[in-house]
Amino acid sequence: MPPGPDSQLDTPLTSIKGVGPRVADKLIRMGLRTVEDALYCLPLRYEDRREIRRIAQLRTDRREVFCGEILAAGQSNTRRTRRKLYEVIISDGSGQVVLKWFHFKPGWMNSRFKPGRRLVVIGEIKRFGSLREVHHPDVEFLKEGQSAEQALSSDPLEFGRLLPVYPLTEGLHQKTARKIFMQVATQYADYAHSSIPEDIIARNGLLPLAEALRQIHLPNNDWQLETLESPHNPARQTLVFDEFFYLELGMALRKKGWEGESGITFKLEHIYTKPLSGLLPYRLTSAQRRVLGEIKQDMLSDSPMNRLIQGDVGSGKTIVALMAALIAIENDYQVAVVAPTEILAEQHYRNFSTWLDELGLKTVQLTGTMSAADKKRAYQQIQHGEIDLVVGTHAVLQAGVEFARLGLGIIDEQHRFGVRQRAVLKEKGTTPDMLVMTATPIPRTLAMTVYGDLALSVIDELPPGRTPVKTDIITEHARARAYSYIRNQIEEGRQAYIVYPLVEESEKSDLLAASEAYTQFNEEIFPDLRLGLLHGRMKSEEKDSTMRAFASGKLQILVATTVIEVGIDVPNATVMMIEHAERFGLSQLHQLRGRVGRGSNESRCILVRDFRCSEDGQKRLEVMAETNDGFRIAEADLEIRGPGEFLGTRQSGLPDFRVANLMRDGRVLEMARREAFDLVSAGDISSDPNYAPLLEVLNKRWDGRLELATVA
Ligand code: ADP
Ligand code: MG
Repeated sequence: MPPGPDSQLDTPLTSIKGVGPRVADKLIRMGLRTVEDALYCLPLRYEDRREIRRIAQLRTDRREVFCGEILAAGQSNTRRTRRKLYEVIISDGSGQVVLKWFHFKPGWMNSRFKPGRRLVVIGEIKRFGSLREVHHPDVEFLKEGQSAEQALSSDPLEFGRLLPVYPLTEGLHQKTARKIFMQVATQYADYAHSSIPEDIIARNGLLPLAEALRQIHLPNNDWQLETLESPHNPARQTLVFDEFFYLELGMALRKKGWEGESGITFKLEHIYTKPLSGLLPYRLTSAQRRVLGEIKQDMLSDSPMNRLIQGDVGSGKTIVALMAALIAIENDYQVAVVAPTEILAEQHYRNFSTWLDELGLKTVQLTGTMSAADKKRAYQQIQHGEIDLVVGTHAVLQAGVEFARLGLGIIDEQHRFGVRQRAVLKEKGTTPDMLVMTATPIPRTLAMTVYGDLALSVIDELPPGRTPVKTDIITEHARARAYSYIRNQIEEGRQAYIVYPLVEESEKSDLLAASEAYTQFNEEIFPDLRLGLLHGRMKSEEKDSTMRAFASGKLQILVATTVIEVGIDVPNATVMMIEHAERFGLSQLHQLRGRVGRGSNESRCILVRDFRCSEDGQKRLEVMAETNDGFRIAEADLEIRGPGEFLGTRQSGLPDFRVANLMRDGRVLEMARREAFDLVSAGDISSDPNYAPLLEVLNKRWDGRLELATVA
C-alpha cells in the first residue's frame, strides 16, 4: 500500500534539507520532531520586508527595512550609566539613523562597519526627540556597485516579501528556522487533510486545512500585515476550529455512548433521604433543591448519570452529594466518594459517617497511609457488600478495591483528577452513575473543554446568613495592626488561619518557612494563645488530630500551608491571613479565602504582600479585594495565567492545544462544539463509511495529544 497522507506528515524533520543533528536537537527541544509538528509551529508575528523605505519615511515603533551609507562608526559610552556601546551612523540622503549595539566584540565590529560601506538594515525604529535609533538591527552589507534592490532580489527568503517570524530556542537562528519551516510548508502542507465534512467547512467560513497552513507559513505579498497577524484571520481560525472540532467530536461521541448505555434505574424509596431531611439543622437552599432535582431525574432514568456540580466554596455541595448517596444506598447499591487529598477525604469521611451512622449505615475510609492490614479488611468488607459508602483518596481507585455493587461514584474537586481516573472509578461498577463536584468556578470555555461531556448543575446561591468576606491587601508595615486584629477576633471567641505558600520545587524551604513562622507566632507574637501547625508532610493521624483540635475550638490559631485549601469547614474561623499572597494564583486565593466567612460573623481575609511584589502582582491581588465572585476571579486568573497553569494541565486532562487559545477563541470553540454535537446527533457516524476518515483522525488525536480516555 502506498503511504497515506498521514504517514507523510510523520516524516522526521531530519529528512528536511538543512536539518542536521545539531539543528534537529534544537527543534526537539522545542517539541518538534515531525513535519507535522513543524507545520503547527506557527509564526509569532510577521515582518514586512516588501519594500525599502527612505529614512525620512521610517515609521516609529515598527520593524522597517531601509538602506544607507555608513558616515561614522565606533565605540562609546552611554551618558548616564556609562555602559559600553557600539554606534554606527548611517544616511541615505533623506535622513540619518543611529544603529546601536550593547553586546559586541569591538575588533570584529570595527572590521565590518567601515565608513563609506553601504548596507541594508532591518530593525525596530525608536525615536528619541529628533533622533532615530535602531538597537541590535539585522544588517546585510551591499557589494561594491550593488543596488539595494539587487541585494533584495538575490535573497528572496530574507527580502522583498512578508516574512514569518518563528519562536526560537537558544542557538537556533531566525534565518535557519524560517528556512526550515517555510520549506516544510512548501513541501508538506498539501498532505494536511482535515476530513471535516465540507459543509461544515463552508458554513463556518473556513479554509481547507492545507490552504490555511500555506497561508500562515507562506504569506502572500498582497496581504495586510494587520490581517495576517489578527487572531481572527481565516487561516488561523481554520486551525483553531480543526483543533476544537475533534475535541468536541470526541466529547459528543462519548456523551452519546453514555446516553445509549443502559444504567441503573434507581427508585425513590425515602428510606434514608426522608429521615436525613429531618435531621438536618437547616433547610436546603433553592439552588441546592434545584440541583438535587436534576440529580434525581438522572438517577431515576435508565441511562447512567454523568453530571458535574459546580458551586462556589461554601455553597453546600456536600449535602447534595450525601442525598444522592442515600438514594443509591436505599436501592441496595454502594457509593464511593473520592477526594484529592487525605485531609479532604478525612473531612468527607467525618461528614458522611456522622450522618450515615445516625441512619444505621456503614462507612469506611480508604487512604494511602492506612496499614496493609486495615486496607485488607476494608477491601474485604467492600467486596462483600458490608459497606454502604467508601470515602477515600486515590487509594479507592487501586486495582485491589472491588465493589459488590457500586451504584454511584462521587468525585470531589474533579479538576485535580484526570478524565482517566473518572473512567477507572466507573469501571468498578456496572455503568454506575457518576457525580463530579468542583468548587473551582470554571469559565465557560474551559468547562466546555474539560467537562464537555458532562451535564452541568450549578449551585449559584450561598446558604443564608453568610456575610461576605472583607479582603485587605497589606505590606509588611501593617503587620502589627493585622496581629492586633487577629488578637481581637480571638478575644471575641473566634478563630484564625495563618497560611503559608507551598511551592513544589522548593517544598523543603517553604516548609521550613512555615514551621519557623509557627515558632515565632507561638513563642513571640501570640505566646498566650493556643496555636497549631498543619502541613502536608505530617502523618495523617497528626493532621487529623490537629484539624480536630481546631474544629473543636481547642486551638485558636491554625498556622498552615495550602493543605487547607480545599474543603476544610470551621464556621467559627473568621480571619485568614495569607503570607506572600503574591505567590498564589487567584483561584487558589479564592479557595483559601472560602475557608472563612462560613458562619454569620463578619470575616476578614488579610493578604500580606511582599515589598518586591510587582505592579502586576499588586493588580492581581486587587481583584481579590474587589470581588468575592468566584467566576469573575476565575476569568481574571485565566486571562492572566492561561489555562494550563490555571488547572494544572498535567492533572486536569485538559488538552494542550497547539494553536487554540481558550480565552481568545471562545467563539470558535462554541462553533466547533455546535457542529460536532449536531453531527453526532444527526446520525450514527461510527457505522457510516463516509465518516471513516473523520473517525480515523479523531482516534489518532484522542490517542495522542488530547490525552483523554479512548473513544469507545
Ligand atoms: P462546599 O460547597 O464548599 O463543599 P459545604 O458542603 O462544605 O460547601 O458546605 C459549607 C457549609 O455550609 C457547611 O458547614 C454546611 O453544613 C453548610 N450548609 C450547607 N447547606 C446549607 C444550607 N442550606 N443552609 C445552611 N447551611 C448549609
Ligand atoms: Mg466541599
